[in-house]
Amino acid sequence: MSFVIDPTPPVTIPVAGVEAVFPVNNIYCVGRNYADHAIEMGGDPNREAPFFFMKPAYAVSTNGVSLSYPSHSIDVHHELEMVVALADGGINVPVNEAMGLVYGYGIGVDMTRRDLQAEAKDKRRPWEAGKTFAQAAPCADLSPVFETGEINSAEIQLTINGEIRQQGNVNQMIWKVDEIISRLSEMFLLQAGDLIFTGTPAGVGPVKKGDDVRATLEGLPELHFKVI
Ligand code: MN
Repeated sequence: MSFVIDPTPPVTIPVAGVEAVFPVNNIYCVGRNYADHAIEMGGDPNREAPFFFMKPAYAVSTNGVSLSYPSHSIDVHHELEMVVALADGGINVPVNEAMGLVYGYGIGVDMTRRDLQAEAKDKRRPWEAGKTFAQAAPCADLSPVFETGEINSAEIQLTINGEIRQQGNVNQMIWKVDEIISRLSEMFLLQAGDLIFTGTPAGVGPVKKGDDVRATLEGLPELHFKVI
């Protein structure tokens, strides 16, 4: 096949322990998937189910790469999240088959221009200005396995300059990984290379230039970046 212009090369993420890299397709994110975060954002987890939004593949930023503070915002927040990477796609995937689509896992941060997101909510506009920009999705090296072997119960933590800002356990997720995949596949066309940011626990807050951000999730490679 020949192209009339050079195609943009795929965005990739390293995989722990192997030379081959993971090619990123679409990025789906789950909103308000932890009750304590839903409450801190003014929601009621008993009345409102989690929901989805997307980021473009180019938003990925890999471990160790400094994050340039984005334009048009003075309130950029961190949202610590477990990331699920898909090896296969599908539509209408039943919950009991959903884990068969998974390639592996990682730690990510759903970086958010909170001021622009708040404006979008106020004016009933789409969320892209808040959620999409270069490096809006820092992601650690992926791992096909959890070293602890337990994906539904793992401590997750984010520190800034050594101080704990977010701490939780993925067992607090309202929708579990298999339920998220199944629900996504009912609404969208899941494809190989898709990443799913599975939602953040409470404690989201601002970053500033000079901050040293470190995110850990039991059993996975850590994520570290500086904000510049
Ligand atoms: Mn998020």
